Amino acid sequence: MAGEEETTILYQCVKCGAIVKSSELELGIRCPYCRYRVLRKVRPPIVKRVLAR
Ligand SMILES: [Zn+2]
Repeated sequence: MAGEEETTILYQCVKCGAIVKSSELELGIRCPYCRYRVLRKVRPPIVKRVLAR
């Protein structure tokens, strides 16, 4: 009953603004570009359709 597509969690570095996939964060939460350790979650714009009867 889960979603058909895997949900990829994206993080954005609050310092340089780079978008990093959660799969790229193998060594923990850290920006691979500037090595800043404060990233925030980014929710991709997913439109959910709910079928109501
Ligand atoms: Zn960064």
